[in-house]
Amino acid sequence: MSDLSSIEPIHIEGVKDYHMHCDYSFDASGTIEEYCESALRRNLAEICFTTHYDNNPNSDGRDRFIRIDGELQPTSIDRLGRYVDDVHAAAEKYYVKGISVKLGVEFGWYRGCEEEALKLKEKYNFDYMLCGIHEIDNISFCSKSDFEKCFADLSLEAMLKKYFMQVKEASDIKLFDTIAHFCYYYKYAKKYYGDAIEKAYEPYLDSVFTTLVKNGTELEINTSGIRHGIERYYPNIDIINKAKKAGVKIIHLGSDAHHPTQVGYEFEVAASMVPDTITGCEE
Ligand SMILES: [Zn+2]
Ligand SMILES: [Zn+2]
Repeated sequence: MSDLSSIEPIHIEGVKDYHMHCDYSFDASGTIEEYCESALRRNLAEICFTTHYDNNPNSDGRDRFIRIDGELQPTSIDRLGRYVDDVHAAAEKYYVKGISVKLGVEFGWYRGCEEEALKLKEKYNFDYMLCGIHEIDNISFCSKSDFEKCFADLSLEAMLKKYFMQVKEASDIKLFDTIAHFCYYYKYAKKYYGDAIEKAYEPYLDSVFTTLVKNGTELEINTSGIRHGIERYYPNIDIINKAKKAGVKIIHLGSDAHHPTQVGYEFEVAASMVPDTITGCEE
């Protein structure tokens, strides 16, 4: 069992965390019940599990696993069934304890993924489908060991062009509710490209936002950048404000927790940026 004693409650009612992993994800630890217990301690009203579903046939395959009973098994639609059953069981158990538990997934986007994403969606009837864009040219830009390889042949402009093109393509297939951690490239691109990265997104935003609005695709506010030490959300406040102005829906907060102690991380501040929390209930 994880030690959850350090978890502090959030003093705002009605806060939801719509992005969290659990030990079905190859890179996360903690059981579904431990995440639910953590969410209770945090005083959250609702949580949505979004385990990784990565199955890009053109990537090196290091992340194409689902952990079941402590063993990594190759990703497949059928193998996600146990996760789905466990989330449903937790929803029943925790509903009476005052927290709503939803079923979601973070689908790792790749070019040509439509058929697989559709099959997955049809089989499990998710409450929420996140699209995780983690790769450029099938190489991960968000892993410590791969980002240099990913960026090596790409100018800053070429990298951004490819990243934002993928966001638009992911939105255009109209299967995903939300693009996860928009502008996640920043995590390592700042190290690689330096300060030139800071506002380099500006020329691309209008076109991306037009696509998102047209398709009704949301952006989340993902607080994991704070624990990654980059002192900002994905996306940053400037982009959040521009997106809202352009009419892009920003409804959900996501901690992107990979451990139960990270559930609702930094939400006390971030909660003011989404519309549907019930504020003014400080103890
Ligand atoms: Zn992700
Ligand atoms: Zn995630």
